[in-house]
Amino acid sequence: MNVIDVILAKRDGNKLTKQQIDWTVAAYTDGVVADEQMSALAMAILLNGMDREEIANWTAAMIASGDRMDFSSLSRPTADKHSTGGVGDKITLPLAPLVAVFDVAVPQLSGRGLGHTGGTLDKLESIPGWRASLSNDEMMRQLDDVGAVVCAAGSGLAPADKKLYALRDTTGTVEAIPLIASSIMSKKIAEGTGALVLDVKVGVGAFMKNQEMAAELARTMVDLGTDAGVKTVALLTNMDTPLGLTAGNAMEVRESLEVLAGGGPADVVELTVALAREMLAAAGKPDIDPAPALADGRAMDAWRRMIAAQGGDPDAELPVAEHTHTVVAEADGYLARLDALAVGMAAWRLGAGRARKEDSVQAVAGVEMHAKPGDRVTKGSPLLTLHTATPERFDPALESLADAIDISAEQVSPKPLLLGRVD
Ligand code: URA
Repeated sequence: MNVIDVILAKRDGNKLTKQQIDWTVAAYTDGVVADEQMSALAMAILLNGMDREEIANWTAAMIASGDRMDFSSLSRPTADKHSTGGVGDKITLPLAPLVAVFDVAVPQLSGRGLGHTGGTLDKLESIPGWRASLSNDEMMRQLDDVGAVVCAAGSGLAPADKKLYALRDTTGTVEAIPLIASSIMSKKIAEGTGALVLDVKVGVGAFMKNQEMAAELARTMVDLGTDAGVKTVALLTNMDTPLGLTAGNAMEVRESLEVLAGGGPADVVELTVALAREMLAAAGKPDIDPAPALADGRAMDAWRRMIAAQGGDPDAELPVAEHTHTVVAEADGYLARLDALAVGMAAWRLGAGRARKEDSVQAVAGVEMHAKPGDRVTKGSPLLTLHTATPERFDPALESLADAIDISAEQVSPKPLLLGRVD
C-alpha cells in the first residue's frame, strides 16, 4: 500500500476502500505515514467528503488503533453525553450526578479546553484537591459506588485520533464533517458506553455555524453510533449566545452548584433536564422526569460523592479573581445579541483557556454576564464583569468584545435553546 495513491484517490474524488483506510490510519499512528501526507489527505477529505461506509471504516480504524473499555460488568446501564463544544457549556457538571440518581452509570471521559471553548476538566480542577486522572480500576469502582465519574481519557483510547486532531488543529482541517464525526465517535465507541446523547451546538460560538450543517453532523454521528451498537441520539442546541451567565472555570462550577441546589439560570436548567431525560430514555428508562432531583437535593448529594471520590472537597471555597472590570450598557433598550464567540474569546484572553496544550489556565478568570438576549437593559447598567488574576489581560479581552453586543429599542424574543433532535 502506498499513501500517495490514497491521497490521489481522495484528491480526485474517489471512494477509499476499507483496506486503504485501515492501512493509512494504522501507518499514520505508527509514524510510517508522515504528518505532511496525512495533512494532504485530511484536506482532500475536507474538500471531497466521504460516504457513510468510508466514515464508518475510518472510525473503526481509529478505534482499532487503541484500547476499548468495557462496562458490561457493572450492575447498571451506562449513558454518556458529548457536546461538540460551546461557550459557558458547564452542563456535564450538573448532568452526570443528576443521571446517576436514577441508577444509570455515567462514565464521562472529558478533555481540556483548547481555544475559545472551555474544557470540563479545567472547570473541575478549580475545586481544591480534585484530580482528573484515574486508573481504569478506580473508574470502575467509582461507577459502582457513586454512579458517575468525570475524568481524563487515558492515552490508550483512539491514539490515532489524538495525533490526527492535533494535526487538523494546525492545518485548517478541523471543520470537516467526516473527520469531526469519526473523531468524536471513535472515542465514545472505544469508551464502551451503552447509550450516548450528543449535544450538537449550532451558531456563532460553535463549529457548526448553521443548522443544516449541524443536522448533517448529528445524522452522521447518530448513524455511526447506531451501527456500532450504541443507542445514540442527538439534540441540536443554540450556541449563538453563551449558556448560562458565566464563562470561566471556577465561575462555571459555582453556577453548576446553583443548578444542583434547585436554582441557576433557566437555560442551563432546561438543557440539563432535556439531556438527562434523553440519557435515561436511551439507557432504557423512558418514563423518568429528572427535574425534581435537582430541586430536592438528590443530584447535589450525588455531586458531593462524585467530587469527594476524586479527592475534591465539595465544601471548599472556590477561588475568586482579584481583579474585575465591568462593561456597561451604552443605551436603554433590550439586549438583542450577546455573541458567544466573542465572550468565549474574551474569557480565553482573560486566562480561562489555553493557546497551546501545555499552557496552564486560571481558575478565577472568565466573563460573568448580567443580562441575556431579550432582557431589558438601561444605559449605564452592568452587562458583563470580566474577571482575571492578571489585569494586563483586560485590554485584549475588551478588544474581543468590541462588536459583541447589540441593544435594540424594540423588544426582542430570544431564539429557542432546543432546535432539533436526531435519532
Ligand atoms: N471534538 C473532537 O473530539 N473532535 C473533533 O474533530 C472536533 C471536536
